[in-house]
Amino acid sequence: MADGKTKHFKLVLLGNASVGKSCLVARFAKGEFYENQEPTIGAAFMTQTVNLGDFVCKFEIWDTAGQERYRALAPMYYRGASAAVVVYDIGSKESFEGAKDWVKELLDNVESITVALAGNKCDQPHSRSVSQEEVESYARENGCIFMETSAKTGHNVIEIFTEIARKLPQQTDSKQDSGGVGLADGQAKAAGGCCG
Ligand code: GDP
Ligand code: MG
Repeated sequence: MADGKTKHFKLVLLGNASVGKSCLVARFAKGEFYENQEPTIGAAFMTQTVNLGDFVCKFEIWDTAGQERYRALAPMYYRGASAAVVVYDIGSKESFEGAKDWVKELLDNVESITVALAGNKCDQPHSRSVSQEEVESYARENGCIFMETSAKTGHNVIEIFTEIARKLPQQTDSKQDSGGVGLADGQAKAAGGCCG
């Protein structure tokens, strides 16, 4: 839309390795799911829009690598972000602990960021080790959006991004600085594909 009704927002995905960040982005941006999603190296970039009627919200999405050795790079990706999706695996308490660290880091460092917690892999209720109630109260205390999602089935994937779009300040455009990061080697192609 070139009618001025498209608003751009920088969004960053954060969370431990293997919780399903790249799969959530692939599901959201392309409607696809990869059983053998390859680990993300550095970060991957993608865009997707949500039409809210009054305006179109275009997300500029940075999907980061969850491995500890990339942790120091995270500020490059969340700097200036309007929103973050912090992902954990409902089958991993450790990943929820990691998610809480990310939420704290974001709230301490990024002004007026909209944070959404995604409890992913909810298609595997048999391996659940994080209760929905626990995360609900944590999310309430910290002003986060919270949904349990499944990149595999698509459950709540469009919904969580739409909820973020609704919550973003509607009158202003995304902050200008989109982080000052270039596409990492080998990720430029993955930008369209996400699985590299
Ligand atoms: P990332 O490291 O956080 O980016 O995680 P990936 O997106 O690479 O996913 C890690 C693994 O979890 C892959 O084998 C995916 O197929 C699997 N996975 C991701 N999302 C889901 C989900 O919602 N349900 C199930 N059952 N598996 C998932
Ligand atoms: Mg990944």
